[in-house]
Amino acid sequence: MAKNDTTAENTQLKDIIAHAKEYGFVYPSSEIYDGLQAVYDYGAYGVELKNNLKRLWWESMTRLHDNIVGIDAAIFMHPTTWKASGHVDSFNDPMVDNKDSKKRYRADVLIEDKAAGYEKSGDLERAQSLLGAMGKLLEAEDLAGVHDLIVNEGIVCPISGTSNWTEVRQFNLMFSTQVGSVAEDTTTIYLRPETAQGIFVNFLNVQKTARMKVPFGIAQIGKAFRNEIVARQFIFRMREFEQMEMQFFVRPGTEMDWYKTWAATRVKWHLALGIPEDKIRKHDHEKLAHYANAAMDLEYEFPFGFKEVEGIHSRTDFDLKQHQEFSRKKQQYFDPEINQNYIPYVIETSIGADRLFLMTFCNAFVDEEVDGKQRTYLKFHPAIAPVKAAILPLVKKDGLPEKAREIVEALKYDFNIIYEEAASIGKRYTRQDLIGTPFCIAVDHQTLEDNMVTIRHRDTTAQERVPISELHARLSEACSFRRIFEKI
Ligand code: ATP
Repeated sequence: MAKNDTTAENTQLKDIIAHAKEYGFVYPSSEIYDGLQAVYDYGAYGVELKNNLKRLWWESMTRLHDNIVGIDAAIFMHPTTWKASGHVDSFNDPMVDNKDSKKRYRADVLIEDKAAGYEKSGDLERAQSLLGAMGKLLEAEDLAGVHDLIVNEGIVCPISGTSNWTEVRQFNLMFSTQVGSVAEDTTTIYLRPETAQGIFVNFLNVQKTARMKVPFGIAQIGKAFRNEIVARQFIFRMREFEQMEMQFFVRPGTEMDWYKTWAATRVKWHLALGIPEDKIRKHDHEKLAHYANAAMDLEYEFPFGFKEVEGIHSRTDFDLKQHQEFSRKKQQYFDPEINQNYIPYVIETSIGADRLFLMTFCNAFVDEEVDGKQRTYLKFHPAIAPVKAAILPLVKKDGLPEKAREIVEALKYDFNIIYEEAASIGKRYTRQDLIGTPFCIAVDHQTLEDNMVTIRHRDTTAQERVPISELHARLSEACSFRRIFEKI
């Protein structure tokens, strides 16, 4: 596909969305009521894939690093948390409406898309200077300047085709709700817009009870909620999503070294998962958030262009300092090595489980022509594939189903296995290709005599004859996280 062929890109995304729905990965939420914008449900294979990705992240954080432990904090938090963190005052996106189409856009996204257009046409300098100009205006909170930039760049609404824009305004992304049973006694609280604050407010609890010494990290996976202005591009931008965040607490002054170390570690993680090197890139932020002294995105080349999958941020001591001030409880750590008390600095790695899912899905989606025939399959790494193996008796009689069931029994305690006997073997192979099952194991009449089965490999469609007694070891070897971890 030509890189700047937007129609082809849209078609590819459409194919991916259709495939995800048709084969049990992702459905629009409450679809029978026509769905809810930017909210999605995961199906039978989607939930398996997502759980595998979450487990892979969790184990690579908490098991591979003896100085990282996990927590699971509540979604609801004391409302002062969000005052201290700055979210009440400044968790805003700049929005702009087109007066003709009445459609609402994120002003920064419109400008970024324009810059991406320059980049695609080879004008890197113009792209950089546009992003730089936007960064400065946003930094200075010059919203009128952002509006002028949109107009001067000739950015038009993709629907109406006009540049008849309203002024640019800030829009707070937090959802609020009430706690308390009687009207007079209610308090407004927020659905957390990031999981990080649950880690910060527990910093001392974890440090003391798990006896951690700086440098150490706290990892968490959990839901976050943002009232996103532009809700499009499938599960790339959702209003309810899951984050996997790790806050790494370090001695002040060492944060830049740790920032670089974590950026390198995280890039390696994505490559180990099978993302090609030219599909992932680092992108330094033009505008730093109020809490950061350095920040970058790891971007993946989605069908709609390079976009953020993960953020790596040097958050300074901002959050702990703010919580110390607002709670009036000391958030200090005594460092026995240098005999000093200090508030640690923090490096954060933050990735959305859903965006990781989308990246993995896009990366795995293969739609190719082989010998004049179209073949679609999902090329997941076996360690994260939703189903590891399908056990398929060649026919529904002659004792083959019973033999196949014995194999299922032997494997199902350690692997997610499917048993299927309906339709021709070729059709059954195709069905497994479509959900990304790496191995199909066929049981035939010969199996009853020699206890050998045929393994058919998803990516090559090559077949080999293997003793039943070797299946467990084969699957263990292919599907173990170890094969990914060893590359990090
Ligand atoms: P963006 O610029 O795309 O809005 P962000 O910079 O606000 O993202 P962060 O606050 O750094 O994102 O969040 C960390 C990670 O959480 C992102 O890299 C992304 O993977 C995920 N994430 C953030 N917002 C969403 C969302 N609305 N839907 C799905 N995942 C999200």
